[in-house]
Amino acid sequence: MLELMKSLDFPRVAGTDGEKKAAEMLLREARALGIDAVLDAYELKAAVPEAHSLRILSPEDEVIECTPLSLSGSTPESGVEAPVVFVDAGAPKDVQHAKDCIALLYGTPKTRVWEELNRAGAKAVVCIAEPEKGLPHDSIDVRWIEQYGSIPGVMVSFKDGLRLVRQNGLTARLVHVERQHTAQSHNVICTVQGTSRPEEVIVVGAHYDSVRVSCGMHDDLAGTAVAWELMRHFADHPASRTIKFIAFGGEEEGLLGSIHFVENNPDLLKRVKMLVNLDVGGGIIGRDTVSVNATDEVLTYIEQYDKEQGTGWDIGQRPYGGDNIPFVLAGIPAITFFRSSGTAFYIHTKHDSIKWIDENRLARWAHMVLPLLARWANAYEFPFKLEVSDTTQKQAAKLLKDFSGAKDEHLERLKPKKKAD
Ligand SMILES: [Zn+2]
Repeated sequence: MLELMKSLDFPRVAGTDGEKKAAEMLLREARALGIDAVLDAYELKAAVPEAHSLRILSPEDEVIECTPLSLSGSTPESGVEAPVVFVDAGAPKDVQHAKDCIALLYGTPKTRVWEELNRAGAKAVVCIAEPEKGLPHDSIDVRWIEQYGSIPGVMVSFKDGLRLVRQNGLTARLVHVERQHTAQSHNVICTVQGTSRPEEVIVVGAHYDSVRVSCGMHDDLAGTAVAWELMRHFADHPASRTIKFIAFGGEEEGLLGSIHFVENNPDLLKRVKMLVNLDVGGGIIGRDTVSVNATDEVLTYIEQYDKEQGTGWDIGQRPYGGDNIPFVLAGIPAITFFRSSGTAFYIHTKHDSIKWIDENRLARWAHMVLPLLARWANAYEFPFKLEVSDTTQKQAAKLLKDFSGAKDEHLERLKPKKKAD
């Protein structure tokens, strides 16, 4: 698994050559095992950064190091000059003072904050990164620009942000120029046909794209490598049910790959029994966690397995904020295995690096998931109802709305398509 990760140790941003190259390598890897594998392309809006800078003009001239907030929109080449107003984490009460100003915001905006910044008439936005995270390179969701408008933005480190917050009466010049274009991203879909119940399907998913400054090793090349390792096992020992191993693209840009898959495969989805999602892992230090988005019987089952195996999983029902969400909204039970905190703290920064990835941890991840997957894929009768509780679906819908600006009509498209009577 580590070998596969080493060969994909480069940024894989959705819609770039890096992502395409990774997709082709994963495809080749699967085909070399004799597995039926295809690339499924979809379009997305992507941005090529051209210029970005942040200069404090008064009270004292100072250039602040920054990174672009991708897809946020462009200023004129000369930038925008305006007073800087601290809006904390973006409460409407704070954001209302940002009219014609450069808003200094803690964190990357969520949908609601983006809407407020537009409503208030902010000219630009400076996002303060989390402490110890250095200078991340984040992007906003393309759907926000269509729905609410552009506000060109950059990101600064927590240390610089804190310093700026403590100064009064700042004015600054912010430059953010990017070229937005339509690009292609791909899902890599590999199918190991079931031997006796091929019409019933389990999906094993992970995402292989990364954010811009990062080689995305914990998040989520590790999950992809584990999925490909599991695929290797089932290529040699096919199960009764069909297993589709999918490396999703565009997760970091708003779950684009998994949404594309769920929206465009209504007939297949009727036959999918479960999604096993592997997202973030492999770190030297961390906490193994499972998010069960299904009925209580699945939760109990996983808890029993955890006791039998001594996995020490932290098991809960809250939906994970990843590719499980479109599946959950389509009514498909989803279980996400991930390894949180520890070295995974560095995800979405340049420090999400292979040096923190531990081969034994990857192997343990695969060994812990494999028996569960094999049981479900070989069970005479699938052990669980095809159900997701209303509460879980509501939580998943809220997550998607908060982070990707999806509207109700968009969520509607993910719902299972009923056969006409
Ligand atoms: Zn991820």
